[in-house]
Amino acid sequence: MRNYSNWINGIDAAPENGAHMERTSPWDGAVIAQVPDSTAGDVDKAVRAARQAFNAWSGLPGSERATALSKWADLMNAQLTELAAVEGLEAGKPKLFAEGESSFAAELVRYAASQAWNITGKLMHDSGPDKLGLVLKLARGVVGLILPWNYPLVCLMQKLPFALAAGCTVVIKPSEFTPGSTLLVARLAKEAGIPDGVVNVVIGNGATVGEAITSHQDVDMVSFTGSSAVGKKIATNAANRVAPVTLELGGKGANIIFADADIEKAVEGALQGFIINAGEECCAGSRILVEESIHDEFVARLRERASKVRIGGSDSEETELGPLIHKQHLERVAGYIEAGKQEGAKLLCGGVDPSLNTGGGLFVPPTVFTGVTAEMKIFREEIFGPVASVIPFKSLDDALLIANDTRYGLANGVWTKNIDKAIEVIRRLESGMVYVNCYLETIAQLPFGGMKESGLGRENGTEGLEEYLETRAAFIKLDVSI
Ligand code: NAD
Repeated sequence: MRNYSNWINGIDAAPENGAHMERTSPWDGAVIAQVPDSTAGDVDKAVRAARQAFNAWSGLPGSERATALSKWADLMNAQLTELAAVEGLEAGKPKLFAEGESSFAAELVRYAASQAWNITGKLMHDSGPDKLGLVLKLARGVVGLILPWNYPLVCLMQKLPFALAAGCTVVIKPSEFTPGSTLLVARLAKEAGIPDGVVNVVIGNGATVGEAITSHQDVDMVSFTGSSAVGKKIATNAANRVAPVTLELGGKGANIIFADADIEKAVEGALQGFIINAGEECCAGSRILVEESIHDEFVARLRERASKVRIGGSDSEETELGPLIHKQHLERVAGYIEAGKQEGAKLLCGGVDPSLNTGGGLFVPPTVFTGVTAEMKIFREEIFGPVASVIPFKSLDDALLIANDTRYGLANGVWTKNIDKAIEVIRRLESGMVYVNCYLETIAQLPFGGMKESGLGRENGTEGLEEYLETRAAFIKLDVSI
């Protein structure tokens, strides 16, 4: 059982009202943590600490920020076991998966560190001997980072080290369900020599702490990852102050499988595409589009593979599918499965199985529907559980029409051995990310983010750093004649 505090100006800080919430384990329902239920007053303290630290941190040479960030990545790598254990426990992640996530998070820090060396502006010197144009890229200031519970560490590290590399200071609001790994890395940041006040963490509910961050007059930018519904509120709050925002929101990915694909790999990729992280995955390929000629064979193989998925066992390296995050979310996912049945889709496998949860866990087995039409809720809405629909298509145009028939635009996949077809699909899919002959794999250098209602702005890559830099220009008049 852990007792968490906020982290403000380099020290633990109890919430000023002394209030806490209880957090239970998704694996078995046991109480695992007391989590601060902070207020706007705590946010204000953290913002003041971040503001005070800003000039010194942004004034350091980029190379010095890079050194501190690299040291931080080393410390994270040395603590991977502990980080993965906290992620596994609080977010309900299988052991190997939590380790993989923690290790990718450290890699993002190492990559962002290298970017702190490369902050450059421009000089326009060819407009006459007495005129110079100067473009500077300067840190935006104090940034509020608001995060979800499904990938606490990776979502954090797609923002935090890029913001720090740029010279910004931050106030982080992790999800109230999964604050443990954020607090651990904040401590490691101090150990790595990142000055007090640069990284602050305030834990609490979205409606209090989240709102206080997005409406705070001294927060220069907000970077949010979470649902599209909350993202819209955040954008509205920020618009009232004309503050910049980046939004990483929900998704409803299509995994398009052509008849010329390697069917065995495509079945495995399609399965992992919707069961990974128990389907609590913004990029989930929850709509599996299969070319008509291989549809029946594909469906039979998918059902066979789904029946073998290993469910549960928090310490086992064999576990493929962990529990959902909390009881209300299980009920929400169960509601979608029921809606699929009511609306006339055919349940191929899975469905809610109470016998899996007699020990207090929150498991849902891999669940697949066929006979799904574009009007059904399970086709249109983000379910955020291990639930997918298989839909046949006749041609490339047909597949693209189905895939793009959504308000979301985060990630899609395509499986084919034909490179021309793959490139055409990449160009015509309306999403920020396309996976080709794989699903949910990436590298730190590749920009990530959504189109349509899936978001605004990009993370990772050089684009990830740019979001935290403001462009400033100067026109310089010189007293020279040649
Ligand atoms: P959520 O939107 O409910 O909450 C996200 C964060 O916002 C939490 O910290 C929450 O406390 C806070 N919040 C809630 N109301 C707020 C308000 N009014 N003002 C400010 N903050 C508020 O999302 P969730 O349930 O934690 O996460 C799941 C969602 O996140 C899914 O929709 C998923 O697709 C999305 N997601 C997107 C990405 C991406 O990169 N695009 C990655 C992970 C998750």
